Amino acid sequence: MKTKVYFTDMRTTYDNNMLDKLKNLLIKSGFNDINFKDQFVALKIHFGEYGNLAFVKPNYVKVIADLIKESGGHPFITDASTLYSGKRSDAISHINVAELNGFNSVTTGCPTIIADGLKGNDYKEIEVNLKHCKTVKIGTAITEADIIISINHFKGHEQAGFGGALKNLGMGCGSKLGKLEMHSGLKPEIDLDKCIACGMCVRNCNQKAIYMDSKAVIDKNKCVGCGECIVVCPQKAIMQKEADQSRLLNEKIAEYAYGVLKDKTHFHINFITNVSPNCDCWSNNDLPIVPDIGILASSDPVAIDMASADLVNNAETVKGSILSEKATTIHDKFKCIHGNVDWEAGLDYAEELGFGNKEYELIK
Ligand code: SF4
Ligand code: SF4
Repeated sequence: MKTKVYFTDMRTTYDNNMLDKLKNLLIKSGFNDINFKDQFVALKIHFGEYGNLAFVKPNYVKVIADLIKESGGHPFITDASTLYSGKRSDAISHINVAELNGFNSVTTGCPTIIADGLKGNDYKEIEVNLKHCKTVKIGTAITEADIIISINHFKGHEQAGFGGALKNLGMGCGSKLGKLEMHSGLKPEIDLDKCIACGMCVRNCNQKAIYMDSKAVIDKNKCVGCGECIVVCPQKAIMQKEADQSRLLNEKIAEYAYGVLKDKTHFHINFITNVSPNCDCWSNNDLPIVPDIGILASSDPVAIDMASADLVNNAETVKGSILSEKATTIHDKFKCIHGNVDWEAGLDYAEELGFGNKEYELIK
């Protein structure tokens, strides 16, 4: 049986702006059927790195938070610390960046709580007993929430292929140790024939895992597999060697997402807007690869990601974007940009684990 995924496009009128359309979408998609009364509701979002402007705007969050409050619930916006030592690696810097990007209790209508505490080590282990992980390490505030709402900016991702609901839930809710567990096993390789020893990767590796020995060399003992170097290399000399690595990452993300949602009521909202080629963890966002498509809502994190991927892959390419520079006939835009990525593996595995369905019916 197909899962219903509700969709609204980006067209507006004088009396029906995008905030009105989001509210209408949520009401039509059964969001208000959730019993929010007296429940703590985690609104899981990515605040965007400072300098990145593609993340989901706080104005949209307020529409969601207001609906929850009208039903007697207690929403809070949340994210967990990053693995790399950037601007969102502890709660103070993370909240600072969130506020700089416009997220505060006035703009979103609810407080911000960094899920895994001051230094990213406040987590609970949820037993899942799955293929890769016996337990998953999730930020405590998320484990203690009664209801999980994922608010997802749908865009490309250099290792996973794309970032949508599963990635925001799985990777995004993991504590630092959890993120390390998901990334472990992903060690990029350097093609020495392409390397011009520019040093960009050395400067951008926060683990100090790359050094120069006439060309760049990765110290595999220090590398945590975060993939930052893959994106910054101007020669495209650093890559995931095998699609197997992307499959492994996506399967671990699915196991973490399974642990986050286990025994909880949940709902998912994907924004196919500003579809940048890379993650919002970057302090920039390249020209979108497709025009803004719309907003999707569903109780199924797999169906909503599958529908989003199909909408992006079937959309026209934005002229001048990185995608338009690729002379290729590959239909899959994420593989076209990022090569050895296996995003289907995460959706297939999540379906196998029983918490979603790739078959969907798109209802406009
Ligand atoms: S960024 Fe790329 S080209 Fe520059 S040193 Fe690193 S691997 Fe070589
Ligand atoms: S993936 Fe690249 S940037 Fe990340 S730790 Fe390893 S070498 Fe450093």
